Amino acid sequence: MDILIIKDIDSLRAVRREWRLDGCTIGFVPTMGNLHAGHLNLVTKARATCDKVVVSIFVNPLQFGPDEDLEAYPRTVEQDTAQLSAAGADVVFLPSAKQMYPNGLENQTFVEVPGLSYMICGASRPGHFRGVATIVCKLFNMVQPNDAFFGQKDYQQLQVIRAMVEDLSMNVSIHGVPTVRASDGLALSSRNQYLSADERHIAPRLYQELAHIGRGLEQRLDMRNLIRESSQRLTQQGFKIDYLEVRQAQTLQPPSLFDKDLVVLAAAFLGRTRLIDNLRVNL
Ligand code: AMP
Repeated sequence: MDILIIKDIDSLRAVRREWRLDGCTIGFVPTMGNLHAGHLNLVTKARATCDKVVVSIFVNPLQFGPDEDLEAYPRTVEQDTAQLSAAGADVVFLPSAKQMYPNGLENQTFVEVPGLSYMICGASRPGHFRGVATIVCKLFNMVQPNDAFFGQKDYQQLQVIRAMVEDLSMNVSIHGVPTVRASDGLALSSRNQYLSADERHIAPRLYQELAHIGRGLEQRLDMRNLIRESSQRLTQQGFKIDYLEVRQAQTLQPPSLFDKDLVVLAAAFLGRTRLIDNLRVNL
């Protein structure tokens, strides 16, 4: 069956009501569009888990800082819709900013997950995770999914969503789906297309250094040395590092000597492009 394109909340709710009456479970994949194999893998997982799959495409202004790439963010809705149809999604939800924020952003009620939202990416992008939590909460209220699927590529985002769902007793199962990478290891991202040919050539180094740190931690090498050496190599290659950190995998706090479940997290600029990536390490 063809994919249903829905642009308004009432129509979405009407379709969802019918599905519920039919006893269908609903899987949900929120995105900002410009879809690649990483997004489509989330759809495949949702397809395998639930009877019906809704994918939203909305470039959420509330999660962009004033100097960020909201205007430039790639918008490719027709191509995205064709890919979603081929991947077996039932509905693509394409709300306008007016639908999502009818009263503007100024006095918008928000959801904020304290602690987790202020560290690492949140420290560099104030208000970002408030914007993410708020839009995901709103979308959950509209779609009312049984299951929702998020990429581990945005690891901190996944932890923020998990905390929101737990703290606010939301009735949604959150699935974290492994990062899809290019053959050279670079995590797929809509922002990769901002990279020049030279930058694209260098970009996989970020993941290589995460893997290097991961191996070092497994060999019980000194964490701080590993980070310092990787930082130096990345800087030499032309990266401007925002952060490169090892954290406890659930709380994202600096790890104690006894923590075994770790994540290495990085954000770095190559030219104008901010790349993020991470690697889980189990000692
Ligand atoms: P975005 O459109 O960038 O907001 O991403 C929408 C969803 O796709 C988020 O849950 C992301 O974590 C996920 N995602 C983005 N890139 C990848 C990737 N390379 N592998 C897996 N999931 C991804």
